[in-house]
Amino acid sequence: MPLVSMRQLLDEAAKGGYGVGAFNVNDMEQIQAIMEAAKETRSPVIIQASRGARQFAQDRYLYHLILAASELYPEIPIAMHQDHGNSFETCKSAIELGFTSVMMDGSLKADGKTPSTFEENVEVTRKVVDFAHERGITVEGEIGVLGGVEDGHGAGGSGLDHITDPDQAVEFAERTGVDALAIAIGTSHGAYKFTKKPDGSVLKMDVLIAIHKRLPNTHLVMHGSSSVPKDLQEIVNQYGGKLKETWGVPVEEIQLGIRNGVRKINVDTDNRLAITGAIRKVLWESPEKFDPRDYMKPAREAMQKVVATRMTQFGQAGHAGDYKPVSIAEIAKGYKDGSLSTRPLVAAK
Ligand SMILES: [Zn+2]
Repeated sequence: MPLVSMRQLLDEAAKGGYGVGAFNVNDMEQIQAIMEAAKETRSPVIIQASRGARQFAQDRYLYHLILAASELYPEIPIAMHQDHGNSFETCKSAIELGFTSVMMDGSLKADGKTPSTFEENVEVTRKVVDFAHERGITVEGEIGVLGGVEDGHGAGGSGLDHITDPDQAVEFAERTGVDALAIAIGTSHGAYKFTKKPDGSVLKMDVLIAIHKRLPNTHLVMHGSSSVPKDLQEIVNQYGGKLKETWGVPVEEIQLGIRNGVRKINVDTDNRLAITGAIRKVLWESPEKFDPRDYMKPAREAMQKVVATRMTQFGQAGHAGDYKPVSIAEIAKGYKDGSLSTRPLVAAK
């Protein structure tokens, strides 16, 4: 199956009432882990790469690895997504490389650190939407600012510093025409999201629900949504790691989000923990081993297990065969003739 539009994938998820995990990749083994999990659970998938990943792997390697996945798994719809594009140029280069979806994170300035103004965010996001939609490419925008830093991207600080304002979310969706909207509800990037099991004081599901009520047809995106399970933390620490105690976003909260318009859930940390734990275990228990396959294979299997679990929990499992891919050229036509709406439905307060 050719790479598909993320818009199509999310529209289908909305119809089916489920969420789709967006898993970050930097190398071949991570792509293989995601694809085997997708095959096992018959799930459509979003594979995403940050700017850091594109630098680490190099664009051409990354593109051809994901293309290989689409050839090897013709039954699985795959959207290839740029995670946290920091500028128009980053998004443009991703589209020219062959990504079928981009995130323009205009919540921060192009340095990827300083929060921008609302007007700056609208302006750069709108510019990316115009360029992308003409080419049939999906755009995710962000309003409000996530906490923490990942891959050198982020404002740092707590997830509570810049919670999304529902009125601004409505105005942003109307003025930019984004296909998907990332909102800030208290989550942070990286492993250290919460210092205790999160409750309503730090994880603002009420804000998410308020935004969904105003924008009932807009696909919402949860970033920083690894669950950081204790068992994965423990494996790392049992074999010589030194992770401090931390809490992620509980799966039940994500499922509540999915019942309230969340269609894309970003997961990276859980997979990093699974891989690192598996590698540590092999090297700790068998220090004589030196063939990388001896630890990369268990690492890949550990990540596959996490991804398959999330696919089942998010509800995307079983939906790979529900629809035929629409070509990117057809999607471009849809944006042009208005059959693919970019005007959000707005409900009264
Ligand atoms: Zn993110």
